[in-house]
Amino acid sequence: MNGYQERPWLARYDQGLPADLQPEYTSALEMFAATAAAHSAADAIRHFDEPISWRELDVLSDAFAAALADLGFAPGERAALYLQNVPEFVIALLGVWKAGGVAVTVNPMNKSRELDLILRDSGATVLVCLSELYDEVARDTVTGTDVRTVVTTEDLARMLERFLGQGPPPPRFGPGDVAVLTYTSGTTGPPKGAMNTHGNLVFNAQTYRDWIGIGPLDVILGVAPLFHITGLVGHVMLSLLTGAPLVLMHRFDPERTIDTIRAERATFTVGSITVFIALMNATNASKDALSSLTKVYSGGAPIPPSTVAAFQDRFGQYIHNIYGLTETTSPSHAVPLKAEAPVDKLTGALSVGVPVFNTVVRVVGEDGQDLPPGEIGELVTSGPQVVPGYWNKPGETEHALPGGALHTGDVGYMDADGWFYLVDRKKDQINAGGYKIWPREVEDVLYEHPAVREAAVVGVPDEYRGETVKAYVSLRPGAAASPDELIDFCKERMAAYKYPREVELLDDIPKTVTGKLLRRELRTRSVLEAAPE
Ligand code: AMP
Repeated sequence: MNGYQERPWLARYDQGLPADLQPEYTSALEMFAATAAAHSAADAIRHFDEPISWRELDVLSDAFAAALADLGFAPGERAALYLQNVPEFVIALLGVWKAGGVAVTVNPMNKSRELDLILRDSGATVLVCLSELYDEVARDTVTGTDVRTVVTTEDLARMLERFLGQGPPPPRFGPGDVAVLTYTSGTTGPPKGAMNTHGNLVFNAQTYRDWIGIGPLDVILGVAPLFHITGLVGHVMLSLLTGAPLVLMHRFDPERTIDTIRAERATFTVGSITVFIALMNATNASKDALSSLTKVYSGGAPIPPSTVAAFQDRFGQYIHNIYGLTETTSPSHAVPLKAEAPVDKLTGALSVGVPVFNTVVRVVGEDGQDLPPGEIGELVTSGPQVVPGYWNKPGETEHALPGGALHTGDVGYMDADGWFYLVDRKKDQINAGGYKIWPREVEDVLYEHPAVREAAVVGVPDEYRGETVKAYVSLRPGAAASPDELIDFCKERMAAYKYPREVELLDDIPKTVTGKLLRRELRTRSVLEAAPE
C-alpha cells in the first residue's frame, strides 16, 4: 500500500476533518426523511420564483409514489428520469424511491439512439421526461422497450394534484440496495449502468458535507447536470443530507447564474471547469457578485492552474479540484477547503487532491504491483463510495472492479505528501470539459453512413473544453461524402457534445497488424498538426 492509511499529510490541512466517517443513515430516503422533518418549512429547492419547502417536497414525492403504485410500478422496477435541472427531477427521484424503485438518470441532451440504449439496458418501465423531450425524442423511442408509461412534466403536474395527500408506506432499503443507475462508458465498452447504492450515496453526501463543511445555512448552486453523478451527489444528495437549499439552474446561462449567485447568496458549488471559465467571461461578473461563493469545487476534467489563478484574481475565490468517477459516486479525492493544490510537473495541471475519508487508493504497475510514491501507474480505488458493479454486466464488473477495487483507467502518481496527480488515461474516453465521449459510440454512428469504409475517433486538444472530438474517416471506393456532411450526419444522431467537431478524410486509417485502430498514433498526429510551426 502506498502509505495512504497513515495519512501523514492530513495534519497540515487540519480543519477538524474526522479520521473516519460512519454512515449516519441506511438509505438516502431515510436521510431525506430526517432532513424533511428537521427543516420542514425551510426551502428545499429554489427554482425561479417558486421555492419548494422540505415539507412540500415530502408531500409531492409521496404523491408521485402513490401515482406510480397506481400505475402498477412494483418495488425493484426502474424508472428513467430524462430531465434537466428542474424540481421535478428531485420530486420524481424521491417518488421512485418511495415506491421502492430504482431511478435511472438520463442525460437530457441524449438523442433517440442513446436513450433507447439506456431504456433497453435498464429495463425501465416508466419514463419521466420533459414535455418538450417527449415530442422531440421520447415518443418514438419507447416503442420496443419495456416502458409502459411515459410521464411528461405536464402529466406529472396532473398526477401530483390527483394523488396529493396519498403515499405508500415507505420501503425499507438497506445500504447495499441499488438506488440509481448512472450510465457511463466506464473504462471500456458501450454505456453501462453503474449501480450506485443507497450506502454509496449516503457516504459521499457525508463526504461532501464534512470535507468542505456544509450545513443548513449554506446555499447550494445547482449548475452541474443532475443526471450526472457530480450533480446528483454534490447537489441533490448534499442538500437532502444537510438541509441546505438547492438553487437549480435549469439551463446553464453564465449571466443568469451570476445574477442567481448574487440574489441567493449561494455559498457552495461544484461544476466542471468550463462553468467557471464561462462565469469569468460573463458580462455581469464581479467580485461583489461572487463574494458569497466561498466553497468552489471543480471536477470531471483537468484544471489548468492559470484558470484557477485568473478566477482567484478576479473574484478572490479559489477553485478546489475534486476528482472521482461515476463508479466512485462522485469524489474519491479532493483538495481540502483550506489547502491549495500543488501543480503536476509533467502535465502542468493541478493535483486532484488527496483521497477522501475511508478511501484507499493504490497506484499499480502493469502487472498489478503497488508502486511507490512518485511512480506512475493506474489508480485503483477502494472505499465505501465505490459501486458494487454494473447493472446486468458481470463480465464488465469483474473487469473494472476485480475484488471490489475500481480500476479507474486513470494513470497518475502520488507524491511523498499524499497528493495525487493524473497524467494520462488507459481508457479510450474523450473528456470534453467533463462530458465523456466513448470513441466507439461515435465511430458506430459514422459506420452507418453509406460512404464510410473506416472511422477512428480521437480526442484532440481544445482551448475551451480541454479536449474535443475529431474523426478520421476513409471512404468506400467510388463513394463521396464531405467532412461537413459527415459532421451533420453525426450531429443529428447524438448528444451535442459528442459529434465530431472535425472530420479528416484519409486513404487509410492506421492499424496494428491485428487490425486494432491506432488511436494513439492518430491523436499524436492531430496534436502535432495543431502545434505552431
Ligand atoms: P465520470 O464517470 O463522467 O465522472 O468521469 C470520470 C473521469 O473523469 C475520471 O476517470 C477522470 O478521467 C475524469 N476526471 C474526473 N475528475 C477529474 C479531475 N478533477 N481532473 C481530471 N480529470 C478528472
